[in-house]
Amino acid sequence: MGVIPSAEQQEIRALAREFAANEIRPFAAEWDARRELDSGIFRKLADLGFLGMLIPEEYGGLGLDPGTYLLALEELAWGDASVALGVAIHNGPVAHLLVSVGTEEQKREWLPRLASGELLTAFALSEAQAGSDLAAIATRAERTGDGWRITGRKKWVTNGARAAASIVFARPGEAAGHRGIAAFLVETDAEGYRPVRRERTLGLRASETVEVELEGVLVPDRALLGRPDEGFYHALRALDVARLGIAALAVGIAQAALEHAVDYAGQREQFGRRIAEFQAIQFKVADMASRIAAARALAREAARAVPRPAGAVEAVEAPGSVRGPSELTLTAALAKLAASEAAMWVTIQAVQIFGGYGYMRDYPVEKLMRDAKGTEICEGTSEILRTVIAREVLRARANP
Ligand SMILES: Cc1cc2nc3c(=O)[nH]c(=O)nc-3n(C[C@H](O)[C@H](O)[C@H](O)COP(=O)(O)OP(=O)(O)OC[C@H]3O[C@@H](n4cnc5c(N)ncnc54)[C@H](O)[C@@H]3O)c2cc1C
Repeated sequence: MGVIPSAEQQEIRALAREFAANEIRPFAAEWDARRELDSGIFRKLADLGFLGMLIPEEYGGLGLDPGTYLLALEELAWGDASVALGVAIHNGPVAHLLVSVGTEEQKREWLPRLASGELLTAFALSEAQAGSDLAAIATRAERTGDGWRITGRKKWVTNGARAAASIVFARPGEAAGHRGIAAFLVETDAEGYRPVRRERTLGLRASETVEVELEGVLVPDRALLGRPDEGFYHALRALDVARLGIAALAVGIAQAALEHAVDYAGQREQFGRRIAEFQAIQFKVADMASRIAAARALAREAARAVPRPAGAVEAVEAPGSVRGPSELTLTAALAKLAASEAAMWVTIQAVQIFGGYGYMRDYPVEKLMRDAKGTEICEGTSEILRTVIAREVLRARANP
């Protein structure tokens, strides 16, 4: 998609903004204080199609192109990033992965239930000793007669207590490292699947960040996604799309902070003038707007690299060029790094523009600053993204 949104994109964006303005934003501070989202919010999101944004229409979803999906996520995050994070995990690393690597039978069984909101989902990859180093996971999957028995403990699972199904990464054999990992779609009412600890987070407080124990959870063969040695690659593929989602969240958080700061600067008077008349404030506003616009444009550009559902590389306008998984890895990392660091910087400026009030819980910008920090960590830290970007750029230079 280009930088100017199409008519369909504007329509979806307006729908998401209206929903965020009426159903999310008025409650965001309360949910943050309560550390809990309203229980009906995902039902309402599902009714508007927001839980099936990347699921093709033939499986009950909206079948949006990834750029439109990001616009909708940005608006939801403008309302509250905790809501948008739950939506992003469900649509991105879970639904999009199923669309990309699931068998026809798996897609028919699960995708309509994901799109309708019957199954809100989670993505259980991280473990206590395996965060950036995904290949260090220790959760095991033993073969049983006609399925698998999964045992282990997962950290920081978003939607972890509320989800009705979760993609769980586990080791099916003795192979160490990245080749010995499988991905399963596990329904969370299975015996032995237990959310054991709800984390107390700095920001994104209303999002469920949960530790999950799996004690001998039995799943059928059809719960396995692809081959038992493909899970690591599925994780990388899922993380690329997840990173785009986090980039959109970061832009939404930053946009909200800018709008609050501009409103405040237009009202607050010191030395007999509105503070918006001071050049020091004007330059902050200009830099905030500039960084947000750059991050948004980069995220939209990155969305163009998301492969079509079959996972095949996709031709684009430039003759002879292709976009595929490697380009997505690079552009998604660029977009998430730029957007999350922009959000962090912009929200700090917003707090500064509010002065002492900005530091107070009664005003909205300190929450945005706390939320922004989460975007620099989840789905790949800024340090890991820099290593990914450097590797891809150096590889492209070595193999032009
Ligand atoms: C709000 C939130 C939601 C999350 N949701 C999910 C979820 O739904 N599912 C899930 O599976 N996980 C989730 N996570 C976990 C998240 O993906 C990990 O926290 C993240 O990948 C980092 O792992 P870690 O915390 O173990 O940090 P570590 O990997 O221990 O890193 C610690 C520090 O060392 C740096 N570092 C590590 N390795 C390198 C390296 N090679 N080079 C340079 N620096 C390095 C890191 O950048 C970081 O600064 C969530 C986390 C948060 C904060």
